Amino acid sequence: MAVAARSSPPVVFLMGPPGSGKGTQVAALEREFGFEGIDTGALLRALSKEDSSVGRRVKALMDTGRFAPSPLVAELVTGRVRRFLREGKAVALEGSPRTLHEAEVLLSGLRADGMNRVLVVFLDVPKAQTVQRIMERWVCEGCQRSTMLSADAPEGCADCGGKLVRRADDTPEVAEKRWEEYTFRTLPVIRFFERQGLVVRVESHRSISEVTHRVHTAVRQRLGL
Ligand SMILES: [Zn+2]
Repeated sequence: MAVAARSSPPVVFLMGPPGSGKGTQVAALEREFGFEGIDTGALLRALSKEDSSVGRRVKALMDTGRFAPSPLVAELVTGRVRRFLREGKAVALEGSPRTLHEAEVLLSGLRADGMNRVLVVFLDVPKAQTVQRIMERWVCEGCQRSTMLSADAPEGCADCGGKLVRRADDTPEVAEKRWEEYTFRTLPVIRFFERQGLVVRVESHRSISEVTHRVHTAVRQRLGL
């Protein structure tokens, strides 16, 4: 990797179907390498609680399992990523980019800032397993972090001790719609990144510790961490 590329902080995009463990891997990157994690879904859910016309639009779309409008997401996420990178922080991002438009806005924004240490980790999981995982997902009311639990009486959040709740949009019907959106909108984005040589594919039907190990190995090799 070139010297100029080495000097900018790295960006890792965690991509894959809903329920592929993107949030888990962002948290692991935060712990292992000190990445700043950005969860697009949590950003949007926070926005959907705002009493504003944008907030209501996002809420209506999210309640029906549809992603928030792309220009809005792209603007929100790009701003957040560029701010961290300018502060010299490594960024691990989940839930975005989900469309080619977002991908283009993000990449051109990064390049404008001279940020070219980009790695896309594709967490590849079969459909049946993602639906099962979504039904086992709990989210912390405090820090919005999600946790996989098959037990029905979860204890508090491992990070902040907050109360764990089920997300209203984690239903089989919404999971099906999210999978369709993923297939038709996100998969082409992953192919786009693949053509640029930015993608490492990790089979994520394996145990969490095994997937984590593979992701960290890729991050060390490709980003020199
Ligand atoms: Zn928490």
